[in-house]
Amino acid sequence: MVLISIPSLLDRSLAPSGKHVIHAYTPGNEPYARWERLDRRSAEYEELKQARSLGMWQALERVIPDVRSRCEVTLVGTPLTHERFLRRHRGSYGPAIAAGEALFPGARTPLKGLWCCGDSTFPGIGLPAVAASSLITANTLASLPQHWAMLKRIGMG
Ligand SMILES: Cc1cc2nc3c(=O)[nH]c(=O)nc-3n(C[C@H](O)[C@H](O)[C@H](O)COP(=O)(O)OP(=O)(O)OC[C@H]3O[C@@H](n4cnc5c(N)ncnc54)[C@H](O)[C@@H]3O)c2cc1C
Repeated sequence: MVLISIPSLLDRSLAPSGKHVIHAYTPGNEPYARWERLDRRSAEYEELKQARSLGMWQALERVIPDVRSRCEVTLVGTPLTHERFLRRHRGSYGPAIAAGEALFPGARTPLKGLWCCGDSTFPGIGLPAVAASSLITANTLASLPQHWAMLKRIGMG
């Protein structure tokens, strides 16, 4: 699957006047092993980037046929890009825990005073899930009466 979006349609500040930003990606299905040992400065890495992005270009061309000739700046990211710039483990989108096989751990840890949230904890990967994990952690730390007291203090209770 290839996902395509044009974020500059929603936020004009993302591109110069008269231009747009297009983002195309394959959600989490690129094997890390293929990239793992490559030098990011090597010709081999550059060639693999071109080869592996071809499918995304082809998907994009079904929507905008002449897109390749109209692009002024093109950037191809890889699992190594996610690993380097986002510090994602093996360049992944998040931990792959298959439904029915295991569960994401909760906020509690064996260490007193150490709590965890984020996409390696329940309910898992993605911004909505990560926001929920922090809510769950906050809710685990503070009782309902404490929540009410806080809401009252900030004028929302
Ligand atoms: C390419 C990509 C596309 C995605 N697309 C979507 C999407 O469209 N929709 C969606 O909902 N989710 C998407 N996700 C998933 C989503 O981005 C993550 O699940 C979410 O950002 C995880 O949030 P987090 O706070 O747990 O971790 P992160 O956002 O990864 O934050 C962890 C932070 O810790 C820092 N860090 C790591 N190690 C250390 C260290 N040793 N010392 C100090 N700091 C450290 C990292 O630099 C990073 O800033 C995508 C993920 C990727 C990689």
